[in-house]
Amino acid sequence: MTQKIKKVGVIGTGLLGTQIAMISANAGYKVSVYDTIGGAFGDTYKKLYADFKAKGINPSIPWDLWEKFRAAITFATHLGDALEDVDLVVEAVTEDLELKRSVFKQLGENAPAKAIFASNSSSIPISRMEESSGRPERCINTHFYQPLAGTNFVDLMPGTKTLPEVMQKGEEWIRSLGCVPLKVKKEILGFCFNSVWRAIKKQCLYMWGNDLVDFRDIDRAWCIFTKMKRGPFGIMDEVGLDTVYNIEMVYFNESKDPKDKPPDALMEKIKKGELGVKSGRGFYIYPNPEFLRPDFLNPKK
Ligand code: NAD
Repeated sequence: MTQKIKKVGVIGTGLLGTQIAMISANAGYKVSVYDTIGGAFGDTYKKLYADFKAKGINPSIPWDLWEKFRAAITFATHLGDALEDVDLVVEAVTEDLELKRSVFKQLGENAPAKAIFASNSSSIPISRMEESSGRPERCINTHFYQPLAGTNFVDLMPGTKTLPEVMQKGEEWIRSLGCVPLKVKKEILGFCFNSVWRAIKKQCLYMWGNDLVDFRDIDRAWCIFTKMKRGPFGIMDEVGLDTVYNIEMVYFNESKDPKDKPPDALMEKIKKGELGVKSGRGFYIYPNPEFLRPDFLNPKK
């Protein structure tokens, strides 16, 4: 397998697929995308633009180039068309194992023999989907975070039969996008960085859920220590407390260890509609959360 990756396919153009397509086009690849919802890319593109502008985020692709790279992307109305002549295809559909398996099956049936199959799943190891493709030796996890917003590391993990050269090509592709590959040698739930973040999140939720510490003090300490503008609870609000809960449940369902179960208090917040930034209230109240106040790190009382 010596050919270079020239054409990238992206299946699913929600929040992550759209960013992966954009940064691939920016890096000079031919890009074709497919989503079961026709206008998904356009809708996400608008949302990302509005969100970044509102938060004052400078995207990794400068604003004046966005239209150029969008125009370079081919929008397919059938999955098979998006796969024509692809060297690498990234699956970025909704986080659902059976859905992903069905997409991998379609990739195996329709993609050229040379293609590498990558999954952007946040929590599902490729070993759970590789057989559906009929080509497990060509499958990898490539877990992107928010590359346009500057979180440019990518977890890269093999399945049970992945060929070394497939990992090598995946790594080269990630680097060519201006991203940093975090190579996982043996399968682990959560990959590389997600595992670290999860350990922090789990301990924070445990301490809050058992009323051991005020969550603001955890965030304060974190911000002072890391010089970040928000702590783990502020980050969980941004991710969405329902999403945090679902991810924690994936780990709990896997281990069945009661220590992995998210606290009941988290579910109570979700039931009250306190989902974080998206609902205006989570651990903090938005749009002006307490942690952005000048005296948050060292309040008088
Ligand atoms: P999303 O809901 O924004 O987008 C998913 C897209 O997949 C939707 O546009 C949907 O129409 C499309 N889709 C569903 N079924 C399809 C099919 N059969 N064929 C083609 N398209 C289909 O989700 P997202 O946040 O972009 O997440 C996508 C993947 O990336 C998930 O596996 C998620 O775990 C992972 N991920 C998400 C984040 C995040 O912060 N949201 C970060 C890293 C990884």
